[in-house]
Amino acid sequence: MIRLYDTKQHKKVDFVPLHEGEVRMYVCGPTVYNRIHIGNARTFISFDMIRRYLAWRGYKVTFVQNVTDVDDKIINRAAEEGRTASEVAQEYTEAFISDMHAAGVEDPDIRPKATEEIPAMIELVQSLVDKGHAYEVDGDVYFSVRSDPHYGTLSGRNVDEMESGHRELRADGQGLEDRKRDPLDFALWKAAKPGEPSWESPWGQGRPGWHIECSAMSHKYLGLPFDIHGGGQDLVFPHHENERAQSECGCGTTFANYWMHSGMLQVNSEKMSKSLGNFLLLHEVLEDADPGALRMLMLQTHYRSPLDFSVERMDEANAALTRVMNALEAADWSCSNATDGAPDALDGTALCESASACRDAFAEAMDDDFNAPAALGSIFTLVGELNTAIAGKELSLADAEAVVVATDAIRELIAVLGISLAEEDAAADYPVEVIGLASDLAGYGGDDAMQAVEALLEARALARQEKDWAKADAVRDGLVGLGFIIEDTPQGAKVTYQG
Ligand code: AMP
Ligand code: ZN
Repeated sequence: MIRLYDTKQHKKVDFVPLHEGEVRMYVCGPTVYNRIHIGNARTFISFDMIRRYLAWRGYKVTFVQNVTDVDDKIINRAAEEGRTASEVAQEYTEAFISDMHAAGVEDPDIRPKATEEIPAMIELVQSLVDKGHAYEVDGDVYFSVRSDPHYGTLSGRNVDEMESGHRELRADGQGLEDRKRDPLDFALWKAAKPGEPSWESPWGQGRPGWHIECSAMSHKYLGLPFDIHGGGQDLVFPHHENERAQSECGCGTTFANYWMHSGMLQVNSEKMSKSLGNFLLLHEVLEDADPGALRMLMLQTHYRSPLDFSVERMDEANAALTRVMNALEAADWSCSNATDGAPDALDGTALCESASACRDAFAEAMDDDFNAPAALGSIFTLVGELNTAIAGKELSLADAEAVVVATDAIRELIAVLGISLAEEDAAADYPVEVIGLASDLAGYGGDDAMQAVEALLEARALARQEKDWAKADAVRDGLVGLGFIIEDTPQGAKVTYQG
């Protein structure tokens, strides 16, 4: 049984999906006026990890994430740059998708854009007006907060003690406060100025408020209620409180059964801000950092806790990832050099039991509100046991089978967390000169660096067999000169690239 922390109930509860074996989840997407920062990435990576785990646990997950492509910030940026709002939105939607791919975040099943879903929003606003939960003033439509007896239940606030969290400006810059019946009310629909993106509506030309987008899109693509609604903690109030109020008042049913919120990311223990100079965009961080290491860093902290990003933590995450990759590489190499008929060198039964204990501990940690740091801990325990089991040993075929059980578990579980190991890419770092070296010394005619290294090692082994020491040394010196390290072991030469 998975247990998760539900923001609305303020506690961990059993997760029971509405439809057996299926999970429908909605996570608020970005407002596309800028490249996303690593705080946004933290939230998206958290929910990607949750989604992957649910899928691994056998649920059919439907994941919807919107793109907010009409908003004051987009319109302002467009005006500053002399472009249209849709040009700005398109540029940053594409950048967002490529940033998410670079960070190893899976695409949502459905990625609706606000500007393409206006009819569903108008329909919901109309139903709120019809039911007396909303009212129109000069082309604007406001939600009447006090008409919802449950307003405040998600964020744990009492309406009577609430200060207006909704200081908003009309599209023409005029204050809203004097137009609303109650300062707590918020805009569902805003009359638009000429030149701004706008749509025809029963209240004249206008555009939707931010909150109504998510209510309309989640309803349309998931139906109500759906299972999990997620976002960063800063969205609990007012955004999610407002989404909930609109949807429940408009549709007469529960909106989301569970509310999950990820903690805020800080940089060097301070809130990210442009003025502090610690505002880090995801794509800039990924220019230097390995995506697997960035995710390792993110998941080493529980998704609900605040996360501190720093260069030191990035280095530690890199070292942790390297430890996993080195263990896998050493294990693979030992297996490929296992000898038929050799005596067993390790306790295969114990290693298989460790792999199975690791799987159990991983699932137990993740079932407990997606405790990825503890789940990583169980993987590291197995990595340590694997390292100890194979160190300095010549494996038998039976040993190799047990080692593969352990490496398969590590690879599978690390992938459930979405941490890419980039092992296959090791050769991508090899210098291209190695191909020329292989052509000169090993008669290699291809253009693949990995194959070139293999051809060189074979040529060296052959030269040594034939006691052609000059040739064997030339191959070794050539490889070393390019930054490779060669270790001769009883099972043959092992090569690693140090750059
Ligand atoms: P926005 O485009 O500002 O609506 O943000 C997109 C997502 O990123 C939302 O789920 C926010 O809650 C989340 N987010 C924004 N800033 C941070 C931060 N510093 N740490 C974690 N999540 C954040
Ligand atoms: Zn939303």
